[in-house]
Amino acid sequence: MWVLSILKRKFIGESGDPSQDEQTQKARVAALSQILDVLPDAAAIIDASDQVLEASANCVAMGLVSGDRLAPVEVRALNREVQRLRKTQSRECVINRSGSKLGAWEARIQISPIDEDLSLMIAQDLSEERRLNDVRRDFVANVSHELKTPVGALSLLAEAVQAADTDIEQVRRFTSRMQIEVKRLTAMISDLVALSQVQGDLALRNSTPVEVRNIIAEAVDATKILAEQNNIEVTIGDDVETGRVFGDEQQLVTALSNLISNAIKYSPANTKVGVGSRRVENMIEISVTDQGPGIPDSDVERIFERFYRVDPARSRDTGGTGLGLAIVKHVCANHGGECTVWSQIGQGSTFTLRFPAYLNGSASPTEVSGK
Ligand code: ADP
Repeated sequence: MWVLSILKRKFIGESGDPSQDEQTQKARVAALSQILDVLPDAAAIIDASDQVLEASANCVAMGLVSGDRLAPVEVRALNREVQRLRKTQSRECVINRSGSKLGAWEARIQISPIDEDLSLMIAQDLSEERRLNDVRRDFVANVSHELKTPVGALSLLAEAVQAADTDIEQVRRFTSRMQIEVKRLTAMISDLVALSQVQGDLALRNSTPVEVRNIIAEAVDATKILAEQNNIEVTIGDDVETGRVFGDEQQLVTALSNLISNAIKYSPANTKVGVGSRRVENMIEISVTDQGPGIPDSDVERIFERFYRVDPARSRDTGGTGLGLAIVKHVCANHGGECTVWSQIGQGSTFTLRFPAYLNGSASPTEVSGK
């Protein structure tokens, strides 16, 4: 709306007396081109006969303007309506980009009259909004599905306990299965909370320089019991990086713990998991290597998606929530880093976290590398 009031002032003048002089109008329209270019959406100044007097740079590429005229039939029809009603009108439509590989896009077109003849057209791209809505809807559906499974199992087990009555052996068997389902529910809820925290706007409010050695020690400690239960030996490399990363220690530890617990969960008993770190130029890498089954190439791209599992039955057996790597991905993004995967079927996998090294403040590059 602020744009419109600026435009109106430009065209009509503070006195409210519109100039009819063609030259003056041309000069004013030219002045507006700068405003159009800084708008986040595609925008144009158009007249009653669909002529485009000025347009933001992306209008042609987006199929809104062809030559000096409005291209889409729907937008021209909307312009007619605005001329007839003399007030702002908007409409959602699909705009074709003829001659472009990018194809059609969904737009919300708004046309507002500026003076008797001219109007401002703004075209907002709806694809991102639609994509986010789809992602949200899928996520809610997935969460409901994931929660329904253990809740359904608990309900059946409770009925079974009731029916078992005085048969103490049966009661013991059913209640221990109830404990497993409760564990599953608890893991799912705590991963959902962790995911929402790392995705939140305040995701990095507790940032400090964090020692890489501490991240590794805490993550290995957090996964110690799991490693013992699975007969996996977790070793930390001798030349572990002594630098620092600027960020939220809890998040960084969670990300590394998720990678270590995956390495433990998916590896056969009596194998080793190695955790190491090194400095590569201004980045610090922390890697987790296992001797597990490896991940097929076709799945590697997708394992960071929420609820994606290579083998859903295996993940269920290991108590996986399908959220561990999604959390890792967000922690990396929050810290300006990334997580990469090397994997070979039958040989194992290496997950590598890569974060910018903390160089400023009291830590010089030499101090950070500890070399
Ligand atoms: P989950 O809770 O199922 O482990 P994650 O998001 O942590 O969910 O991992 C997604 C999927 O990636 C897992 O279900 C598993 O199929 C695969 N995966 C992750 N880490 C490993 C690993 N170290 N070795 C083999 N497969 C792995």
